Amino acid sequence: MTFIDDLRNAIGTVSTDAADRARCARDWSWPSLYAEQQGRPALPDAVVHAGSDEDVAATLRLASEHGVPVVPRGGGSGVMGAAVPHAGGVVVDVSGMDRIVEIDEASLTATVEAGHNGRAFERALNERGLCFPHYPASAEWASVGGYVAARGSGVLSSRYGKIEDLVVSLRVVTPTGEVIDTLPVPRHAVGPELTQLFVGAEGTLGVITRVTVKLVPLPEHRRFEAVAIPSLERGIDALRAVMQRGIRPAVIRFYDAEASSGSLSPVVGRPLDGPTALLMFEGDMAVADAEADSTLRSLAAAGGSALDPELCRTWWDRRYDFYHPPHYPTLPAMWGTIDAVAPYGRILDVYHAIRAALEPFGEQGLRLRTHFSHWYEWGTMVYPRFMIDDTTGLDDPLALYKRIWQSGVEAILEAGGVINDHHGVGSTLSPYVERQWGPAHATLTRIKRALDPAGVMNPGKLGFATDP
Ligand SMILES: Cc1cc2nc3c(=O)[nH]c(=O)nc-3n(C[C@H](O)[C@H](O)[C@H](O)COP(=O)(O)OP(=O)(O)OC[C@H]3O[C@@H](n4cnc5c(N)ncnc54)[C@H](O)[C@@H]3O)c2cc1C
Repeated sequence: MTFIDDLRNAIGTVSTDAADRARCARDWSWPSLYAEQQGRPALPDAVVHAGSDEDVAATLRLASEHGVPVVPRGGGSGVMGAAVPHAGGVVVDVSGMDRIVEIDEASLTATVEAGHNGRAFERALNERGLCFPHYPASAEWASVGGYVAARGSGVLSSRYGKIEDLVVSLRVVTPTGEVIDTLPVPRHAVGPELTQLFVGAEGTLGVITRVTVKLVPLPEHRRFEAVAIPSLERGIDALRAVMQRGIRPAVIRFYDAEASSGSLSPVVGRPLDGPTALLMFEGDMAVADAEADSTLRSLAAAGGSALDPELCRTWWDRRYDFYHPPHYPTLPAMWGTIDAVAPYGRILDVYHAIRAALEPFGEQGLRLRTHFSHWYEWGTMVYPRFMIDDTTGLDDPLALYKRIWQSGVEAILEAGGVINDHHGVGSTLSPYVERQWGPAHATLTRIKRALDPAGVMNPGKLGFATDP
């Protein structure tokens, strides 16, 4: 009996439908879209539409027994090819596991099944005067389990943290089919925090089926500000000091001159020609206003001049427009974001290194737009987005795409940065993970082998072997 026959006997919802397999051969990564257009998609052999922990457990047990690759899939909105089944096998689509299990209004936590859609979650919480302050630009498509598995970040991260700061506990089906719950609190001293092992594991260590996250009340007040700043150096220094003084703007987006004029300006409908900071403060009115005033004083001392706050409000209202036509690119364009993170002492080196590394690709029409938008006490993230408007007529666009990434990633590593802040590793960065981690990657590999002895979970991701 084949693996698919066994699977069908165990679970009713196994699909080998061509359209279903084609849907699961791509995410939002450029190479997967290009492969589809070229007629070379990385098709899985089957798709399991999981409806329960037991469906997932039975699939993983059988896949381990047969040595068949398994790729978990939430909303398929990843941009790094993490959900693409390059080794074939079976995709476990958890989007049907989408119940809200519990909202605990006293503890301000919610438990949802992993396939629950980000936008639907937000709507349900808002009806109760609550929100989940993880707002990635992809909330419309992404799942809560995918937020966790890709170790993502939302637009309010400078105040509320990344997903790893917002997750309380998880239910996970391990590669050998055990269903486990991590401890129900994220702060304890009963051994290491197992929840965090699965955050960012990109489906290589098991399938997350349930997630408990922190909530906050809907903010009483929001204040928007925009400031023109004479140089990147002065802006980064002033914003660093703001974060280190314990002030927590909900939004800090600091665009370099090209991004201000090339990406921000068309969306807000105003001319902008130098570095521009967009700021949003929220929560209790008196506290938010005090935080805003203090931040504006710091930026003024750095030579900043206040712009019309409506500029930031317009960006907030239109922030999803960037990801819809006519702003979001489509083939035959080529695009990607080489987001990196570094301590403040190195962030400008990383910024300049990426620019220098990508400059030669100007010959192929590459444009770069960069901003800094997830701020921590110790450092920040640089978000260089590259774009080639039309690849028609270029020799081997996929090879060019790989060369662009290789140049960017090597520049980041040489400048002392870390090669990703929030989009994850996927297939794009997998070849560089071992170099990034150094000898510690061998420890991660031993953990992987212990949990997934058959090596079936999402092979070829996180720098792990490509075959089971
Ligand atoms: C327009 C656009 C804007 C974006 N903006 C942001 C942003 O602002 N911030 C941000 O962080 N990301 C952003 N992303 C990237 C992407 O949306 C996130 O990585 C998101 O968290 C992926 O969730 P998903 O459910 O779509 O996961 P998928 O794409 O389905 O999967 C991503 C990875 O997680 C694994 N996975 C998914 N579900 C599970 C599960 N239940 N158990 C175990 N593994 C699982 C998959 O195997 C894969 O490795 C953006 C993407 C797009 C297309």
